[in-house]
Amino acid sequence: MMQNTGYIFDIKKYSVNDGPGIRTTVFFKGCPLNCWWCHNPESQRGEPEKVDQCTFRWNLSNDYSKRNSIGSQVLVEEVMKEVEKDLPFYEESNGGVTFSGGEPMLQVDFLHSLLLECKKKDIQTAIDTTGFTSINDFEKIYDITDIFLYDLKLIDDKLHYKYCGVSNKMIHENLKMLSSQGEKIILRLPIIPTITDTEQNIFETMSFISALKNIQEIDLLPYHQSAKSKYERMQKENKVAELIPPTKEYMNELRNKFLQLDIPVKIGG
Ligand code: SF4
Repeated sequence: MMQNTGYIFDIKKYSVNDGPGIRTTVFFKGCPLNCWWCHNPESQRGEPEKVDQCTFRWNLSNDYSKRNSIGSQVLVEEVMKEVEKDLPFYEESNGGVTFSGGEPMLQVDFLHSLLLECKKKDIQTAIDTTGFTSINDFEKIYDITDIFLYDLKLIDDKLHYKYCGVSNKMIHENLKMLSSQGEKIILRLPIIPTITDTEQNIFETMSFISALKNIQEIDLLPYHQSAKSKYERMQKENKVAELIPPTKEYMNELRNKFLQLDIPVKIGG
């Protein structure tokens, strides 16, 4: 079903970390997960939310009365107008548009409309997803999506539930389905000390990946503390504030380990 409006909280231009080439990333509002290490806490609630003295870059509104609101309802045409401004960059770099969030699949009809518009204009598309949605939702969009950036966090279901707020069963099933359909997939693995970065989880993640097909790349995303000030300004509890980010040397070691899977591995998105 087509839907002409949806909720987003940002559009980032000239992104080089959200898929191939130079991209425009559209951040959808709303996420069904609640990860302890979330770098985009402003994405989690589905509706626009009020904050005092908002100075975050996500504010798209020229209307001063809306400046203290995170996220806005936008039309497909408005998003496409922004996306199309950078067509020459996509062509030169083999880039395109990435729909991220939050979780773009939560607004699957709006996403579907945007993907169709991109297809008409021959703009390459990527969806950055948690995978936590029904298989029917994926069936609606996988034919018109070029690449999936798919998060893989914790293989143990109990730990996934504890640290992300939901079971990982549906996430794993959807990933296996996309893989067997021959979809292009880039896996995104957050490396969070003591949580996802444990010997057990790395071992189980590598075994899980080894049974998949069509994995184009593995992106190892090291924990960083850049979201600290967002948590403070939003007065949200930051459960991982005390964690120490992994060193470059350690990330290189981890990269070498994942290279054993014979899949290209990148540090960062
Ligand atoms: S899936 Fe991503 S956006 Fe959603 S809570 Fe986890 S880290 Fe945040």
